Amino acid sequence: MKFVSTRGQAPALGFSDAVATGLAPDGGLFLPETLPDLSTEWSKWGALSYPALCFEFMRRFATDIPADVLRVIVDKSYTTFDHPDIAPLVQLDEQTYVLELFHGPTLAFKDFALQLLGNLYEHQCAVRGQSINVLGATSGDTGSAAIHGLLGKPGTAIFILYPEARTSPLQERQMACTGADNVFALAVNGSFDDAQAALKELFADQAFRTKHRLSAVNSINLARVLAQCVYYLYAFLRLPESTRTETEFVVPTGNFGNVLAGWLLQKMGVPIRSFKVATNQNDILYRLFTTGDYRVSKVEPSLAPSMDIQVSSNFERFLYLSLKRDAAKVREVMQTFKQTGGYTFKNFDKDTFSASRCTDAEIPAIIKDVYARYGYVADPHTACAFVDLAKDRPSVVLATASPAKFPETIVRSIGVEPTHPRLEALKQRPIVNHRLAATPEAIANFVAQHAV
Ligand SMILES: *Cc1c(COP(=O)(O)O)cnc(C)c1O
Repeated sequence: MKFVSTRGQAPALGFSDAVATGLAPDGGLFLPETLPDLSTEWSKWGALSYPALCFEFMRRFATDIPADVLRVIVDKSYTTFDHPDIAPLVQLDEQTYVLELFHGPTLAFKDFALQLLGNLYEHQCAVRGQSINVLGATSGDTGSAAIHGLLGKPGTAIFILYPEARTSPLQERQMACTGADNVFALAVNGSFDDAQAALKELFADQAFRTKHRLSAVNSINLARVLAQCVYYLYAFLRLPESTRTETEFVVPTGNFGNVLAGWLLQKMGVPIRSFKVATNQNDILYRLFTTGDYRVSKVEPSLAPSMDIQVSSNFERFLYLSLKRDAAKVREVMQTFKQTGGYTFKNFDKDTFSASRCTDAEIPAIIKDVYARYGYVADPHTACAFVDLAKDRPSVVLATASPAKFPETIVRSIGVEPTHPRLEALKQRPIVNHRLAATPEAIANFVAQHAV
């Protein structure tokens, strides 16, 4: 299987190279050259465990990794989860289900992809006999999930920049209390955007990048999207057969990676009825799916911070496939969008996508209502998905984070403090971080000293 760029001006690559490359050299994102047709196969997979299903799915894409090796990589990636079902589907009432995606090491859904990606990187280091240094900036969940994907892995080091005193204390602890000596939590003196800008400059220095075999952590890696397809399928197989093909998946959304994965699975022939894109008050995607207008506005920090985005990076993959793989048209749209900050789309599939939005004023009220109605505690991101659930069909709400990660909002909403043993354990450990100026020079110096 080969992978092509959404901008159509980069060579097609095999799975391992596309994963190692991240962003395609023409600025596009990788997608499979053709999507496999699973329509006659998926229904045979109902008895498979989560890792077995993941292997069955991934082996259609990772064709350059021997099957027995891939199986070990996949199995290992889900041993770090603390629920036997990995992604349990919880029924709240006849029409409403929650797919809990927060039983991984950092208690958010990003672990599904980043545990696997960490093991793929480790495999690649071993095959190539080369070390790898992973670098990224985070405002929250991605950084800690990436760190826990590479924690203690030989031949790797990971450097994560975060704005000092601007992530939540628990998020900082998840990055800075691991005790692993290949993990560097870098508290930069500046905002997330400053850190991001400094990193971008560093990555533009081709010589430095090559010398230290740098790789970027971000939300656009091909392996992340593919790994996320699996839990949609796992949930789909657990829905009652009589209503399965009528069920809507409701997805708390920021960068569009999560909902894109579900849609790809539908395109591979798994008959998912529809998706609802649930945003917080940063509602660019809500506006797109309700009016057709895709237009940047200012990001307002919210109670669901992992969905505070301005431009949705994975949207380009959606665009490419919606435009029937017309890469020239994608380039034109992206160019217009870059120049004018907006674009109007007419032709996405309205029968498949709908959208909802949720303001900060509504989030605590929804958490309270869901708790009163079902005795269920939803985190602030998951709460956004409980707005306007469909009346005419069952819903599966994707729960993207554990409520224990956001104790302030939960206490404020329902007066109960959620806890989790993994987070309690972190509070006992010392914070080990490094303070840096948000400049490319300071970061380059630090990386040069600690790279493997
Ligand atoms: C990252 C994240 C999201 C948004 O996911 P996207 O793939 O960017 O749409 C939602 N909720 C939580 C808790 C997250 O960490």
